Amino acid sequence: MAKVAIVGGGIVGISCALALQAEGHQVTVLEPNTVGEGASWASCGCIAVGEVVPLSQPGMMMKVPGWLLDSEAPLSLRPSSALKLLPWFARFTANARPSKMRAIAADLARLTFSATADFKAQLGDIGHPEMLVERPIIKLFDDDTDKATMGAAFDLARELGCTIDEISGHEAHELDPAIAPDFKHAALLRDWSFVTDPKRLVEALHQTFLTRGGIVKRAGAAGFDREGRQVRSVKLTDGAELSVDQVVLAAGARSKGLARDLGVPIRLEGVAGYSTALSDPGVELKHTIFYPKGGFGVTPYDGALAVAGTIEFASLDAEPNWNRADVLVRRAHRVLPGLKTEAAERRIGYRPFTPDTRPIIGRSDRLDNVHFATGHGQLGLTLAATTARLVADDMAGRRRHIDIQAFSPDRFS
Ligand SMILES: Cc1cc2nc3c(=O)[nH]c(=O)nc-3n(C[C@H](O)[C@H](O)[C@H](O)COP(=O)(O)OP(=O)(O)OC[C@H]3O[C@@H](n4cnc5c(N)ncnc54)[C@H](O)[C@@H]3O)c2cc1C
Repeated sequence: MAKVAIVGGGIVGISCALALQAEGHQVTVLEPNTVGEGASWASCGCIAVGEVVPLSQPGMMMKVPGWLLDSEAPLSLRPSSALKLLPWFARFTANARPSKMRAIAADLARLTFSATADFKAQLGDIGHPEMLVERPIIKLFDDDTDKATMGAAFDLARELGCTIDEISGHEAHELDPAIAPDFKHAALLRDWSFVTDPKRLVEALHQTFLTRGGIVKRAGAAGFDREGRQVRSVKLTDGAELSVDQVVLAAGARSKGLARDLGVPIRLEGVAGYSTALSDPGVELKHTIFYPKGGFGVTPYDGALAVAGTIEFASLDAEPNWNRADVLVRRAHRVLPGLKTEAAERRIGYRPFTPDTRPIIGRSDRLDNVHFATGHGQLGLTLAATTARLVADDMAGRRRHIDIQAFSPDRFS
């Protein structure tokens, strides 16, 4: 039995904690804030199996001036953060070449195709199988031009094995009558599913971890004591030290500084997104719906709806721009004309993004006992259980079910 410290109590950290606890290890999660209230509680809640085409798209760099001027665009860049983010952004856009996009999509698909089974096993283990709704999600398009924006991404996803059925906007309205009847096109993404509330999900995982004897310490990691290739202890923000046999780095968008302390430079930035939970939405929805033109999705939670999305390149310490959340809620009326928006709880989350959109999973060649589990970008909820399985297999010295070479923390050096 090893003493394991998990740095970060988001969906990825808490999933790793449960998986390692199940192996018989003594696991402590280090989390300076409330468990799950990093990026994880703001997510759209999708097990986004087909979301494998990277966010970096051809011609992105050309659009930057427009984003600097329009803070309400689905994608925006805060002028105050632009200089700081530019080196990361340049690398990000360098991955927009078709050959690179194809390679990234294929790597991500290897992970996402395992996600539903791994996630179901995790929910079964904690006794909450009902938290996963296995129903396709619907994407909505105003007209032919709007639909054409997704054409290349759909083709690539299909090529990799995803099932996408194109239907009319009217058929989408018949499937879910709350959807406005006048969309011209829609698509059913059949491999996807969604959870009934990402915040409740993390709470349930957290609760099970505690019930099984896990420890959550309300402190962050401030540094590490190393002896050669081994981390011997984690220095905590409250001044204490935790001696460890193994460390899992799962601090989401804050992982970069900790990785630097460990001597493993990674490239990672937080990309903000916003979510508004509407507790009296006045409409019922059976599917998660996405309106790519508006940059948001709407997910049915238990008795509520969440309007979530938007991509904002802003530094981690910038104040949230709640106007971006409010814009999404206003735009949601285009999709759900009967939507009531009075009772609203807003959340912000920084998706931990690498420039190549691939997560960072596995060990560095420089350290024997540190496992990276970060950089999941827009796929952290989807890939948390799969990442946890990979980390647990690696720690146990078992053969991993997926080749993780492409996700190595050493690829940035
Ligand atoms: C609007 C929006 C919609 C999204 N929709 C989806 C979706 O539909 N499907 C999907 O799969 N993903 C989605 N995502 C992405 C997903 O939410 C993230 O990828 C995921 O939450 C990342 O989880 P994490 O555990 O790595 O990070 P986090 O949830 O951010 O957790 C990291 C934790 O580390 C802690 N921490 C920071 N510094 C330290 C330190 N020094 N010591 C210890 N702990 C520290 C933080 O407090 C935080 O709690 C969405 C994200 C957003 C914002």
